[in-house]
Amino acid sequence: MTDRYSRQILFSAIGEAGQKRIKASKVVLVGCGALGTVSSEMLTRAGIGKLTLIDRDFVEESNLQRQSLFTEKDAHQGLPKAAVAERKLRAINSDVEVEGVIEDVTWENIDRLCRDSDLIVDGTDNFETRFLINDFAVKKEVPWIYGACVGSYGVAFAFQANRSACLQCLFEQPTDVGTTETCDTAGILAPIVHVIAAFQVAQSLKLLVGEYPPQEILQIDVWTGTWQTITAEKARNQQCRCCGKHQFHFLEGQEHKRLTRLCGRNAVQISPPRPTRSDFQKISKRLDKSAQIDLNEYLLKIRVDGYEIVLFTDGRSIIRGTDDFTEARALYAKYIGN
Ligand SMILES: [Zn+2]
Repeated sequence: MTDRYSRQILFSAIGEAGQKRIKASKVVLVGCGALGTVSSEMLTRAGIGKLTLIDRDFVEESNLQRQSLFTEKDAHQGLPKAAVAERKLRAINSDVEVEGVIEDVTWENIDRLCRDSDLIVDGTDNFETRFLINDFAVKKEVPWIYGACVGSYGVAFAFQANRSACLQCLFEQPTDVGTTETCDTAGILAPIVHVIAAFQVAQSLKLLVGEYPPQEILQIDVWTGTWQTITAEKARNQQCRCCGKHQFHFLEGQEHKRLTRLCGRNAVQISPPRPTRSDFQKISKRLDKSAQIDLNEYLLKIRVDGYEIVLFTDGRSIIRGTDDFTEARALYAKYIGN
């Protein structure tokens, strides 16, 4: 053990005592895509006690450019990411108890999956899950490390329950459906993933050894070579619905996207988590190159990969070509956003 972690123990902020705390820790990683594959490998090599990684998706060829744990064989076999990651991480460090969970994290299962964790790391690709994690983290007083990347740009922040602002303090306004870029529309470079994951893991280790990360939001663009930190020390809102008033709407399922199977049509309807208006012009412009778009004043039709996604002005969407909720949600996140 001493030899394995000797270089980390030599780092004075960790030392022998810090390594023992790291070894005793339980971390949950939600989402094992780009950020998750990179951060899970570093956490495993660092020698945490237990890593639970949760993911709803399968490995595809288009993942390989940035999702560093996966190989061509995994993509050809279409294996679940959580299962592949579990196997590879166990081979990297048998000291760590690694558990891969093939599920979509929802208000109904988050308590079961995250109950005993000291820390949650964000490897998700959508805001609904992040707000759910935020509710859970504030309620249970568990820190969580936000990370997000698109194109060459990334953002990260260490949320520390009841010490720092929470996600709801920072993003009070509902995001308009379809106006945010996702990595399926704007692309993504592997280097920004590694930078953001590196920050997430460094702040995780800091928390695990008992120190507090700075309350600063990190923003980096690896293409332009620019970065900045924005202080969030005064961002905590006493009137915040979540950390101020302790109303956990996401955790109680009130904000859950209402999914309905449309009988006999092989289709799923998804309602947005909050009232919103769809910006058809923005969405069609964003998806112009990656899908076939049909547009009228009532709806926007996106045809891609054998599916048809119909988006209505009220943010409601019908996804044809599947009756599986998890698949429909993944398509919604991929093409409409959050
Ligand atoms: Zn808050």
